[in-house]
Amino acid sequence: MSVFSQRDFADHEQVVFVSDDKSGLKAIIAVHNSNLGPALGGCRMWPYASEEEAIRDVLRLSRGMTYKSAMANLKLGGGKSVIIGNPRTQKTPELLAAFARALEQLNGRYIAAEDSGTSVADMKYMAQFTRHVAGIVDKPAADGTRSGDPSPATAYGTFIGIQAAVKERLGRDSLEGLRVALQGVGNVGFDLARQLKEAGASLWVTDIHRDSLTRAAKELDATVVAPDEIFGLDVDVFAPCALGAILNDTTIPQLKASIVAGAANNQLAEARHGLELMKRGILYAPDYVINAGGIIDVYHERIGFDRAALLKHIEGIRENLMEVFERAREEERPTGEVADTIAEERFRR
Ligand code: NAD
Repeated sequence: MSVFSQRDFADHEQVVFVSDDKSGLKAIIAVHNSNLGPALGGCRMWPYASEEEAIRDVLRLSRGMTYKSAMANLKLGGGKSVIIGNPRTQKTPELLAAFARALEQLNGRYIAAEDSGTSVADMKYMAQFTRHVAGIVDKPAADGTRSGDPSPATAYGTFIGIQAAVKERLGRDSLEGLRVALQGVGNVGFDLARQLKEAGASLWVTDIHRDSLTRAAKELDATVVAPDEIFGLDVDVFAPCALGAILNDTTIPQLKASIVAGAANNQLAEARHGLELMKRGILYAPDYVINAGGIIDVYHERIGFDRAALLKHIEGIRENLMEVFERAREEERPTGEVADTIAEERFRR
């Protein structure tokens, strides 16, 4: 099977195939670029239908991590790993140990963190066999200690990013009276909604879990709408915090918001949808720029956790977005394209 000729191959430095007979492990680790530092990225476990699909995913996701970390000014490169299998039925301690030993052999060129199908607990277990896992340290927080979960940092960064987008598009410093529609009130979405509420915004929310909606309505006075109603609301900001590929041919024509800014990964179904948003006068905060709080949090865990330094770094998302918005305006280009250019300038420097 070829890797070099795959559409998603983008001069990746290293792609490693790992297998272990005894545990049934089959995994792929991809280091896209390590110019700025060791490649850090999630370890995903998923029952891929084919090896090709797993390769495509690991190539695409590892490249994305290079851009995200470079944009966030982290001394990290981009990497990702995928374990082929069903996390509910095939994830055993033996399999995780075998994978961890493979990581150890890479000598820190790639550092794994939790992702879909793996958990902080899995990473903590793997840390018995390798030094090269991240997002496992219990940290001090405003309300006591918390686990390696990066969601609060992601939510805070997204909040800062919405402030930047509101300043750019609406010329306002305050969020008082801002109308925001959130798709998904899970770990990140709920915390983001809470901060928006505290800043004086009015909220509309949707989710597929009734409990999350009940909580948002009760605690944040949010108006609950059906999943397919969230796009067409007469609001200022649409904040996707659930799924990828949510900005597409069906949803974009429905949008009345003049800003799209949320935490979900890979929001544009295709790159051309970025242009579509621009043509309609909708300001899009590129997903990997605004949702970098989580990776910044993981990075600070590695360099010695200092809460003030972490918050300052997350608040840098404001300057990053302002730079993207300004260049996009001057060059009349979609914000996502401009973000890629800036990230490339940073990691190729
Ligand atoms: P989560 O699973 O806790 O929350 C997602 C929520 O979206 C859930 O409540 C789920 O029920 C809801 N949802 C799923 N499908 C939906 C649909 N069709 N319509 C409405 N709601 C739907 O996940 P999370 O950790 O809060 O992450 C949210 C998004 O942010 C994801 O795209 C994730 O990749 C991205 N992200 C998260 C982090 C992090 O630190 N957790 C970092 C970067 C990016």
